[in-house]
Formats: sequence, structure tokens, C-alpha cells
Amino acid sequence: MAYDFDLYVIGAGSGGVRAARFAAGFGAKVAVAESRYLGGTCVNVGCVPKKLLVYGAHFAEDFEQASGFGWSLGEANFDWPTLIANKDREINRLNGIYRNLLVNSGVTLHEAHAKITGPHEVEVNGERFTAKNILIATGGWPQIPQIPGHEHAIGSNEAFFLKELPKRVLVVGGGYIAVEFAGIFHGLGANTTLLYRGDLFLRGFDGSVRKHLQEELTKRGLDLQFNADIARIDKQADGSLKATLKDGRVLEADCIFYATGRRPMLDNLGLENTDVQLTDKGFIKVDEQYQTSEPSILALGDVIGRVQLTPVALAEGMAVARRLFKPEQYRPVDYKMIPTAVFSLPNIGTVGLTEEEAREAGHDVVIFESRFRPMKLTLTECQEKTLMKLVVDGKTDKVLGCHMVGPDAGEIVQGLAIALKAGATKRDFDDTIGVHPTAAEEFVTMRTPVGA
Ligand code: FAD
Ligand code: NDP
Repeated sequence: MAYDFDLYVIGAGSGGVRAARFAAGFGAKVAVAESRYLGGTCVNVGCVPKKLLVYGAHFAEDFEQASGFGWSLGEANFDWPTLIANKDREINRLNGIYRNLLVNSGVTLHEAHAKITGPHEVEVNGERFTAKNILIATGGWPQIPQIPGHEHAIGSNEAFFLKELPKRVLVVGGGYIAVEFAGIFHGLGANTTLLYRGDLFLRGFDGSVRKHLQEELTKRGLDLQFNADIARIDKQADGSLKATLKDGRVLEADCIFYATGRRPMLDNLGLENTDVQLTDKGFIKVDEQYQTSEPSILALGDVIGRVQLTPVALAEGMAVARRLFKPEQYRPVDYKMIPTAVFSLPNIGTVGLTEEEAREAGHDVVIFESRFRPMKLTLTECQEKTLMKLVVDGKTDKVLGCHMVGPDAGEIVQGLAIALKAGATKRDFDDTIGVHPTAAEEFVTMRTPVGA
């Protein structure tokens, strides 16, 4: 049977665009449907605008520290609408780049919602198209618990478009987004409280990292409240919000921001017209090569709920394009040693096993840890400390994990990830000459194990 397209991609986000562009480059006839914004979550309401807001928030401490270096500044004023307008302009520019990338690589772009009407058929704007393969790359969506008054809360999608900076913010959650946005709101001058339901935020990260960040954020005046969760939200006559916690306490705020995880975006996708199955958690179930239980339909990225990070969606997009149209170049995505950063202030950068994971896996664990005041702060009043930690296997000497909390941790950990991927040992770290004077050199100068 002749199809309209070899591949129909639903969703022009990180994974969908990568798969579409490379598939077209390999000679396939490709279409992409996008219902909201080109570039998807990362470009529009994720990584990119988030990082711009983090940069914005960082200036607060730069101004504070400048006086130690002899600078005297007038009173610093921050204007939220200017930051948001400039951010929007940059995102518009990126949307245009994504459009050009797709069109110039020969992909047919349908800027509309797509619904699957059969294993080889998609409906867009009332028109039906057939395809040999359909790729679901529809991403995720913020998930807000349905407590009474949840309609008064916002999620990350709205946070990027607030008309003004709220004076008092409650951030709910203890994952990436909660920690990053708490830092943004606090840095920009809002009175910010982070509420997390467990004992300590950032579950899954190394224990020392979680504790260290808790201490540093507290030093900065961010109000961290653990074992705290909201039972109901009420809007008051003056427009402010009243949050009643499960333990009966009442907190007032102008904005309540939930960052409590993301669900797969399957709305009106038409999965009922296929044999596509879901996992226990509701994500699309795929095999090792991203094929769903409907053989002509594949899925990748956040919608499969494996690792919700842009570089992972990109790698999966590449793997799908190669698997379908360049099988001789196919290489499976390696999910081990994925480096990641939390753009809190200060940043977390991490790659490999946490101490807890390494112990659980039965390694003979040796820990190297260093805490120090970065050189830049020595002329200032700021007492912030940087943490660096190596998790080493005592038997093989392999470095199993590198963890950092401190300025530019995300930048530093990218290079370390290559070393770990290549199987570096502690001896290799020790034999590496440092770059002086940097914070990063500490990773190659730690000699004494903790407790030795
Ligand atoms: P998406 O990028 O979400 O793209 C899916 C696209 O599909 C969307 O554009 C959507 O409109 C479209 N779509 C959905 N349904 C349909 C339909 N039926 N028809 C047509 N189009 C449809 N990751 C990092 O690595 N680093 C970060 O710093 C980072 N920061 C983040 C900050 C925030 C606030 C958030 C929310 C996420 C962040 N992420 C970050 C995660 C990252 O954004 C995602 O992992 C990544 O975007 C997933 O890509 P994707 O292709 O799976 O989906
Ligand atoms: P996460 O899964 O990282 O964190 C969700 C948080 O919400 C957890 O602390 C969780 O607690 C808590 N939570 C979940 N359900 C509830 C509930 N019903 N009530 C109260 N608290 C709840 O999700 P995020 O929304 O922060 O981010 C989604 C994903 O996006 C991330 O996992 C990450 O993959 C990606 N991302 C990456 C970034 C980066 O690379 N820098 C930045 C932002 C997002 P508990 O731990 O107890 O389950």
C-alpha cells in the first residue's frame, strides 16, 4: 500500500523534531503535527525560559557581592515584565528557528492537533493522512493534585507568563522544578516558601547533595518546610490565597505554584483506535526500540516516562530515525551515566551512582568529599560553601559517581560525565593535572577518603 508519508510525527518538541529532521535527512517522507508551540516544552515552557529566569535571579547575589570587589552600585531594581518580555522575544526567535529547521529539511509541517484514527492514519484539521509509521512524541503536562481549591494554583506552564512577580509564593513539591522555581522566585525578591511532603527534598539524588543544598538554601533565607503538604486552598476577598496544610497550619500567599510531577500528554490522541498499551503509571509502553504494542506506532520522550530530560528525548529521536531509515547506523540509547543538573541557586551537577545506590548495588564504596568556600566569595560576606563528592568502587578503583553543589556545577559535570562513561578510575582522576585556580580542580585533588 502507498502511504502519504513514511513517518508521521505527532509533537514538535525535543524528541519529535530530532526524529523528523533526521528521518527526512535519511530520505524519508516525513510530516510533523504540532498543536501548541514549535520546540515543545523545553523551548517554550521548560529548559530554555527556566534557565533565562535563573540567570535573572542570579544577579541579586552578583550585586550583593560586587561591593567586596570595590564596586558601589545604586539601589538595584528589578522589573519582572521586562524580563518576561525579553524572554518571550527570545522564545519567538527560537520558534522561528525550529520552523526553518523542519521546513528546510523537507518535513511537511501541520500546525494543528493530531489525532490517531487507525494504526496507519492520523487526522489533522479534519483531513486524514496515512503513514507507514506514526511516532508519538507528545511530551508531558504538569500534574496538580485535585485538592479543594486546586483551581487557584498554577503550574510551570503559567509561571512563565505571570503578569507580575508575586510578593508571597508557596512552591509545592521537592523535585527539579520546585527547587529551581523556588530559587527563581526567591532570587527575584519574592517571599518564598517551599513545601515538600517528605523528610528531605530531591529524592533520588545523593544524600550529601540533598542535605548540603538544604543548608545552603536555608542560609540564603529560603523558607524550606518539609513534611508539609496543602490540604485545601481558599481564595480570600482581597484576592490573596489561604493554604490550609494537612497539619492544620494556615499559610497566606499571592501565588501557589505546584511542581508535583508531569503526566503523559495523551489528550484526544485517539489511542482507543489502536492497540497501544500503557504502563502502570499511564505512560506509553514501548520496547527497547521504542515500538508500542501497535507495530506501526512508536513513541519516545516524556510520553514514555523513562528519563524526562531533553538530551534523552534527542537521543531517542535519533535512535528512532536511524532504526527506521538507517538501520546500519542504529545504536541503542545508553541510559547509564546520564549527567544532569538542577539549576537551583547554587546548582547541583551529578553523574553516575549516588552513595546510596552504590552501597545498595553491593559496591565496596569509598567516598571522597570536599566542602570549601569558593575563591570568588573570599572578598565578600557570603558564607556559601561548595560541595564536591566522588563515589568510588574500592575494589576496581572505578569512579561510580560525581556530585557537586556549587556555582556552574552543571557546566563542570558535563566533562566528568565523559570520564565516567569512558570508565575512569580514581587513579585517572588523581593523575589528571588540575586547572588552577578553579573550583573544578578539586575533583582531581581529593586524596583522603571520608572517615580514613
Ligand atoms: P515535548 O518537548 O513536551 O514536546 C511535545 C510536543 O507535542 C509539544 O510541543 C506539544 O504541544 C505537542 N503535542 C502534544 N499533543 C499533541 C497532539 N495531539 N497533536 C500535535 N501536537 C501535540 N530537561 C532538561 O534536560 N534540562 C532542563 O533544564 C529542563 N528544564 C525543564 C523545566 C521545566 C519547567 C519543564 C516542564 C521541563 C524541563 N525539562 C528539562 C524537561 C524537558 O523539557 C523534557 O524532557 C523535554 O521537553 C521532552 O521532550 P519531548 O519531545 O518528549 O516532549
Ligand atoms: P519530579 O518528579 O522531579 O518531582 C515531583 C515532586 O513532587 C517530588 O518531590 C514528589 O514527591 C512531589 N509530589 C508528587 N506528587 C505529589 C503530591 N500529590 N503532593 C505533593 N507532592 C507531590 O517532577 P517535576 O515536576 O519537578 O519535574 C518533572 C520532570 O521534568 C523532572 O523529573 C525532570 O526529569 C524534568 N526536569 C528537568 C530539569 C533539569 O534537567 N534541570 C528541570 C525541570 C524539570 P516525592 O519525591 O515524595 O514523590
